[in-house]
Amino acid sequence: MNFHIMTLFPEMVEQGLKTSITGRAEEKGLISFNAVNIRDYSNDNKHHKVDDYTYGGGAGMLMQAQPIYDCFLAIRDSVKGLSKDKKLRVVYVTPQGSVFDQKMAADLAKEEELVFLCGHYEGVDERVLEEIVTDYVSIGDYVLTGGELPAMVMIDAISRLVPGVLNNDESAMTESFAGGLLEYPQYSRPEEWMGKKVPAILLSGDHKKVDEWRLEQSILRTRERRPDLYEKWVLENPPKEEKKKRRKRRSNQEEDNQ
Ligand code: SAM
Repeated sequence: MNFHIMTLFPEMVEQGLKTSITGRAEEKGLISFNAVNIRDYSNDNKHHKVDDYTYGGGAGMLMQAQPIYDCFLAIRDSVKGLSKDKKLRVVYVTPQGSVFDQKMAADLAKEEELVFLCGHYEGVDERVLEEIVTDYVSIGDYVLTGGELPAMVMIDAISRLVPGVLNNDESAMTESFAGGLLEYPQYSRPEEWMGKKVPAILLSGDHKKVDEWRLEQSILRTRERRPDLYEKWVLENPPKEEKKKRRKRRSNQEEDNQ
């Protein structure tokens, strides 16, 4: 999977992504990062200006359409084997977008090429957004100075879902959000630390019991820390009793209809 990042600070993005797990994944050829400096596409040969005042007044400067559009065209042209009618998926990271989550990460991980546009200053001229952006995505309801950190957050989360990036692919499947719940508490050696013992069940060697305990802990933790997620999970995974009641109601209804 190839990530292309349109930014005014390519070195910031590269330093962040070319380390640790994502860095190793790039070395293995599983993913690639192409951070492109929007400034290189400025028509202003002297100062490489990319921003200007906003029409109608207001505080701050706005990123202009032309350098971003030309930067996008250069990325588009660099993608090998891209047919003329194929529209590249372009994510504008913005506080005005849908809030990023694991489901969105999984959806974006299906793309072979993914372009990110990082805004700065007051943001970006609307006309170029209309022209190239397919997805408006936020990392939360707060305003940052630039789009580099949000793009890096998203790229990190997406990369983990690319097959082979994690040493143990299973860990992405059992982590928080994968099944709609937060992950259970985990423990490593020693068995006792500061008088706190590892729960005995985890030392029992009984995998079925361990799985049951973990699911129970996940449910408790989600209910306590993320009641919003818990409510959603309960609706999608009704308890056995509720399932029975629903089945009975359905069969009674069917009988009444006959
Ligand atoms: N004036 C804009 C507004 O009120 O929506 C905010 C601009 S912000 C100072 C500059 C850039 O940072 C944005 O163009 C965007 O790319 C990025 N940014 C800031 N907060 C963000 C967030 N919560 N999620 C994603 N990107 C964000």
